[in-house]
This record gives sequence, C-alpha cells and structure tokens, in this order.
Amino acid sequence: MNSDTRKHQEPHEYSLAICTLASGSKGNATYISDGHTSILIDAGLSGIELQRRLTSRGLDPAKLDAIIVSHEHSDHIKGVGILSRRYKLPVYINQPTRNVLAGLGRLHEIKPFECGTTFNISNLAIHPFSISHDAEDPAGFTIGRNGTRMAIATDLGIVTAMVKEHLKHCTLLILEANHDPQMLETGPYPWPLKQRIQSRVGHLSNTDSKKLLHELQHEKLQHVILAHLSEINNTPHKAFAEVSQALTRCKAELTVADQYASGPVIYLK
Ligand SMILES: [Zn+2]
Ligand SMILES: [Zn+2]
Repeated sequence: MNSDTRKHQEPHEYSLAICTLASGSKGNATYISDGHTSILIDAGLSGIELQRRLTSRGLDPAKLDAIIVSHEHSDHIKGVGILSRRYKLPVYINQPTRNVLAGLGRLHEIKPFECGTTFNISNLAIHPFSISHDAEDPAGFTIGRNGTRMAIATDLGIVTAMVKEHLKHCTLLILEANHDPQMLETGPYPWPLKQRIQSRVGHLSNTDSKKLLHELQHEKLQHVILAHLSEINNTPHKAFAEVSQALTRCKAELTVADQYASGPVIYLK
C-alpha cells in the first residue's frame, strides 16, 4: 500500500472533510462531511464502486446522509438510485433536472432545491448556483460550516460573474480543468463534439481555469483540486503545469482529481 492510498488520520477538530471519489467523463462523485453529516455531491459511478472508493479512504457508506445531484448527465447520476435505496438516502435535486431523470428508478426520498436558494442538511449550509452547461438546470455548489466554505464548479462552459462571486473566499475549490485547447483542437474528436466542448455550455479549459484561479486566489485559499479532466484532450501534467501558473499570491496546494481512484481526505479547520 503506498502512502496515497493509506487511510488518513482524522484530526480531532475540523469544519469540513472533503474527498473526491471520482472525477471525469466516466463518473463524478465528491464526499463532504463535517464529522456528523456526510453527503455526496453526485454519484456517477455504480453503487458498488462508490462504496469501494469510500471504504478505500476509511469512509463509511452507511454513514452517508444525503446525495445532491448537480445535473442529469450520466457521469453524475449512475449510482444515485441504488445508493438512495440501499442506504435510505434523500436525494436533493432541482425540479427541471428531476423532470428529465425518469431513469433513476425509485428514490428513498426526493428533496427539491432551487438554484440561488441556500438550504441546510443539518449543520451544512449548501448554496446551489446556476452554471452554464448543456443540461436542464445545472448547478455548482458552495458548502459552508462554521464559517469555512468550499466550492465545487465543474461542467461549465463559461465563468459568469455570478459563478465568480460564489467561488470567492472559499478555503477549498474544486475547479474544472477539462481540456488543453491545443489537444482538443488537434485531437480525434469529431468537429461537432469539439464545438460542444468549447461552447458556452461545454467545459472549462486549462487556460480558462488558470484565468479564473488567478482572479480568485486569496490568502486563505488552501486547496485547489482540478477536476473533470478529459482523458483524450488533457493530461494531469498539462492541467497542473498550466493552472499552477495562476497561483502567484497564495500558497494553496494544487492537486488533480483522479478518474479511477479516490483522492486523499482533505480536512479544513
Ligand atoms: Zn455534464
Ligand atoms: Zn460531467
């Protein structure tokens, strides 16, 4: 067992624990907990694989309290139905997304949310905000606890002023760095798909992500996790090399989320 897969020692006191279970077009899921309440943002792998990814980091799937769905694309919802039924989890989902998700099967409980309106799951304050992506009502999220805040923004074609506003002042950011523009341009994707990815409702490039992070960085930013990397049009090395140039005014740790394994559990004070 190498150091990367070793279970992390849980500190005595923390506000939020965050673990990316999977990230990319083959499945996305992020675990967030304050030690009492534990949620998943998206569950885009099979139930059994998500259980495996959680337990590989010492996280107990039976202690989950809810799943929040960002949008209806299959890489975000594959395990939602099975986990909801198996662990009796409420699923937080907005109505336009729910309307196009007949395929989820029976859910234990549906809790509607609206983009722009904060809701609470116990002591976690969740704020969903609209993002520009080709789905019915796609959302990014900030999650706050004890004044500590993290944000997740993947699957977005452009960064609107509102998105920027929400990503400010966070201690941890999960940001999309989907593609290297050059690799996408010269890569094997058919032209319409290249157009879709580059469009206002597609995905953020490494260059976009760098620009955004350059603006957002602040002294209290501790972690930035690059997410939803394309396996065809990007490499972790390229994403890291480009986006790391943005961090000129803070000492945040930059890492890249993996498609095939859970990342380390990151604890925020
Ligand atoms: Zn999507
Ligand atoms: Zn996606």
